[in-house]
Amino acid sequence: MKENDAFLLNSPAAERLYFDYAAGLPVIDWHCHISAKEIAENKRYADLFELMLAGDHYKWRLMRMCGVPERLITGDAEPFDKFRAFASVLPLCVGNPVYEWTHLELRRFFDCELPLSSGAAAEIWRHCNDKMPTPQELLAQTNTECIITTDNAGDDLEYHGIYGVTTVLPGLRVDSDAGAALADADRFARYGCVSADITDLKIAGSLAPELARRGWTMLLHLDPLRNVNSAAFGQIGVNAGFDAMGGGVDITELAKFLDGLYGAGSLPRSIIFSINPNDSPALNALCGAFPQVFQGPAWWFNDTFDGIRAQLKSYAAVNAVGTHPGMVTDSRSFLSYSRHEYFRRIFCDFLAEAAIRGRADFDTLGAIVRCVCYENAKQIIKKEKIKC
Ligand SMILES: [Zn+2]
Repeated sequence: MKENDAFLLNSPAAERLYFDYAAGLPVIDWHCHISAKEIAENKRYADLFELMLAGDHYKWRLMRMCGVPERLITGDAEPFDKFRAFASVLPLCVGNPVYEWTHLELRRFFDCELPLSSGAAAEIWRHCNDKMPTPQELLAQTNTECIITTDNAGDDLEYHGIYGVTTVLPGLRVDSDAGAALADADRFARYGCVSADITDLKIAGSLAPELARRGWTMLLHLDPLRNVNSAAFGQIGVNAGFDAMGGGVDITELAKFLDGLYGAGSLPRSIIFSINPNDSPALNALCGAFPQVFQGPAWWFNDTFDGIRAQLKSYAAVNAVGTHPGMVTDSRSFLSYSRHEYFRRIFCDFLAEAAIRGRADFDTLGAIVRCVCYENAKQIIKKEKIKC
């Protein structure tokens, strides 16, 4: 699969939209869990395991689902044995985005066209270990203009800054202590922070007036079920692949929450993610009642071929697709920057259907591609006023 191929692009119109409008745009990744320290130090990875598997719980989960023992996932096995274990189960995972993400990672960053399998593991391991990229090289190669990391109050921010083509901004994550976050907001602002990431409506309510005053964007990540396997969580820890999808956001409660803040003049620009895809139409409709509120892109378990398409379909039908805030990796892995290409190809394929059916002209669609894949995210990082 070469860069100019038709992967996920199901029509000449989709190919034209992707290659003429989307492919050359810089990336703005406005929510991720990347380490700013690894960028600043331009970390040298020991091997493909460390870069591809050591921190990626999406891949760990699949290995567990396929029966790989924990020793070969997060245990004390040798790095190559863990990589080979992953390689041996990946061919079982066609349809899961990890299958396509992994091959995009190999192709784009290692120029490796071989399908990963147990038989190809040793050859791919040798090939990739000979050309291990650094974080700054990966960000430059993906033309990543800006990323926003996830940082708690009190965290060291000295590694945030500009590295090559990429500006690395902190994002204030608030899970429990709103007071500590408020007390540290000035320091975050000095490092260029423009957003807060919150998972609880009570905490969001107590922080929202200050976020609105500062012109920051409030990211609400709602309804994941964290650490549902408590025994495994006890052994292996957080962010290790033991999470699940909640039953759905209480839209009525969320409407009251937004209404109270809006009426008081203290509703910041807000991007709301629900982990339950059934929430999309109701959430899109609710966002449409508040001019500064948007639904976030397909998130976590929905960050799949079908999940991205379903979220776009709902957003376009119920809201205004040209206001979509675009893709985020929400990832801990530098290789995940290829997921912006994955999203852009799916988005262009989705939009092209409107041209094919005569529902919209091509230039209009091209302008939407530019907005969603790049310009709209600039409002979050406060580089430019709204253009689209
Ligand atoms: Zn996140």
